[in-house]
Amino acid sequence: MKKVLHIGFDDTDSLRGSCTTHLATLIIHEIFDQVSFLDFPNLIRLNPNIPYKTRGNGAVALRIEGEEKNLEYCKEIVIEKVKNLSEVDDENTNPGIAFVEDKIPKEIIAHSQRAMWDVISIKEAEDFSSFPNVEIIKFKLGRGIIGALGAIGNPLKGDFTYEHLSYREPKNFGTKRLIDSESIYSADKETPLTFNNVDYEYNSIMILPRGADPVFTGIRGETVEEVRKAYSLIRPLEKLPMQMVFRTNQHTNQHFTEKFSIDKLKPYISAIVDAEVTSKPFYIEGSHLIFSIGDTTGKIDCAAYEPTKRFRGQLSKLLIGDKVTVFGGIRPAEKNHQMTINVERLKITELVKNTKLENPFCSNCHARLKSAGKNKGFKCPKCSTKYRELLPNEIEIPRELNLGEYLPPMIAQRHLTKPQVRENRDNTTTQKPIKDINSILADLVKN
Ligand SMILES: [Zn+2]
Repeated sequence: MKKVLHIGFDDTDSLRGSCTTHLATLIIHEIFDQVSFLDFPNLIRLNPNIPYKTRGNGAVALRIEGEEKNLEYCKEIVIEKVKNLSEVDDENTNPGIAFVEDKIPKEIIAHSQRAMWDVISIKEAEDFSSFPNVEIIKFKLGRGIIGALGAIGNPLKGDFTYEHLSYREPKNFGTKRLIDSESIYSADKETPLTFNNVDYEYNSIMILPRGADPVFTGIRGETVEEVRKAYSLIRPLEKLPMQMVFRTNQHTNQHFTEKFSIDKLKPYISAIVDAEVTSKPFYIEGSHLIFSIGDTTGKIDCAAYEPTKRFRGQLSKLLIGDKVTVFGGIRPAEKNHQMTINVERLKITELVKNTKLENPFCSNCHARLKSAGKNKGFKCPKCSTKYRELLPNEIEIPRELNLGEYLPPMIAQRHLTKPQVRENRDNTTTQKPIKDINSILADLVKN
């Protein structure tokens, strides 16, 4: 009798190299002819604002079906690969694996939803091992079990996207990625359902990661066909032995679901806050922009950091009294600053009128009047007529901001950020389940 097995793993990589998706691809190569896949491998990005993470806080889930003995074989492969290929020498790499048979318990789905924005302890995740169909394996501290279960519990029922990843030969890890960059620009133009290939604003190619990791390209898009098409159109100048397509919650804003009043904010969560601007934005050393917001429960500083480039310039135009919804991660208080929201996205819901006061004109000679002193009205500098009762004119200055949403440029966006181009896209309802997953996977494995 065939059974379903969900496999999750996380925290196998380090800042120096390796990559959880690479490990997943190696595992898929070993097991794909033993079992059938119920979905593409899932790449699940979790709360990007927690302190313990490597690059993007991404975990992987594989959902497979097969005979008991084949599933046991898969488990062995996963354990062996995670054990031998994780960067366990790095003190910040603490891999974890989770296996869930058949139905995913609703408690794990709830854990996964919370893992998108909250901070969860290893202990809390470990408690799931008391479920009869859940198995948990920790390496070192085993922090990865939080993400492993988080990935399993997120079957991507809502909005999602795809990412096509290609991997380099190990001998090239750490060297410059060689590619005909013109081919990236033309692939971008020919595949309208891919996105974030090039940041045209800063003329920066986005599909090539910069680190020493095995990933050569990452192409994001709305459909499997489109990301594969874009990959077929680019011209890498080195041999790429492996590729895989992941279904993912990247670019869906899934980490912003929870609204908070300011008094309830706590470090490292991803939060939505409705508030009013309470101080004029100003730049601090390092070109970071700071302003504060308040609601009926308190006030908090907000920051748009230097890497967000022109986003800072836009937010610098905010005025006291503007009503905003801030989406961001909470930085704890430190020696030189209070608890602060790192602004990832900001929606303006109401703009105050910006006005300035101007002296009126003389009704005799039309010269601009001068103040006659505090509370003494005005005096004409030309004909000396005095105007005791006259008040200054209030002049409206047009605002340089509009209602609506503001985002940092692509180069400064997070994996989870829903880019402008996806604003009206939502794959929840637009895509039918893909039937030929296993033949596509076989094709990808064949390379
Ligand atoms: Zn006059």
